[in-house]
Amino acid sequence: MDYVIFDLEWNGCFSKKINAYINEIIEIGAVKLNEDLEFIGKFSCLVRPVICRNLSSSVRELTMLTYDEVSKRGVPFDYGYSKFRKFADGCIIMSWSMSDIETLVANLRFHKKLETIPFMKNYADLQQYCHDMLGLSGTNALGLQAAADLLAIDTEDIPHHRALGDSMITALCMKKLYHRAALETYVQKSSEREFYDRLFFHTYSIEEDSEFIDLEAVFFNCPECGARCNARGELKAKLKGFAAEYECPRCGNSFIGRVSYKRKYDSTVMTKKVIKQVHASGETE
Ligand SMILES: [Zn+2]
Repeated sequence: MDYVIFDLEWNGCFSKKINAYINEIIEIGAVKLNEDLEFIGKFSCLVRPVICRNLSSSVRELTMLTYDEVSKRGVPFDYGYSKFRKFADGCIIMSWSMSDIETLVANLRFHKKLETIPFMKNYADLQQYCHDMLGLSGTNALGLQAAADLLAIDTEDIPHHRALGDSMITALCMKKLYHRAALETYVQKSSEREFYDRLFFHTYSIEEDSEFIDLEAVFFNCPECGARCNARGELKAKLKGFAAEYECPRCGNSFIGRVSYKRKYDSTVMTKKVIKQVHASGETE
């Protein structure tokens, strides 16, 4: 199967029609690679904006495009999308982070009342792939240019922050870090509802008791001696989490334990923190 790596440029603005902000696509770019990672095609198309009546200064500075240029040289979104669909149909679709997918769906919803990208059956997020393959820890998003620099890819002659140029840089990063079996584990079945449920799910903090947490199972280890401590009273909703006073059964040390929860699409992440330490004598440290 061939790979299509795409990138979008967009301009954020308010739409009266949907009474919400939307990132309106102004350019679609993509490159196609075969299984031997040879470049076998490229796609580039400016899209005429119909929601926004100007480009924000940050978009103008980043892309070097003007409203005049995208209006005059751009094609209607439906036409550009249909050309892109023909270019990418049957391929594994990839992009640098999922934000291009979110933006494409938002534009398809606006123009075509679609909630999915119908032709996209397989998708991989190359930002996540490259982040992991570079052995980077933490959750900080890896910038495309930062990745190219880490991989010693010369991007001087490639137009940055333009859809085709960024697709090309993404493809070069993928080529440098290509490991077929590893990449396959990043390819998601994007024809299924769950893909979009996950995409549009936003992490939130749990601030009241719910089915996703078990406050009775919470314990703290004494910061002084390490013994397991039980709460003096119930954990109460406090400080965007839950807090209670704890006392150490071994050394008598007492402290406030705070626990907070983040709900993700299919998991709950718990963070525990000792926020205040009170000695048995009542003095505060
Ligand atoms: Zn203790």
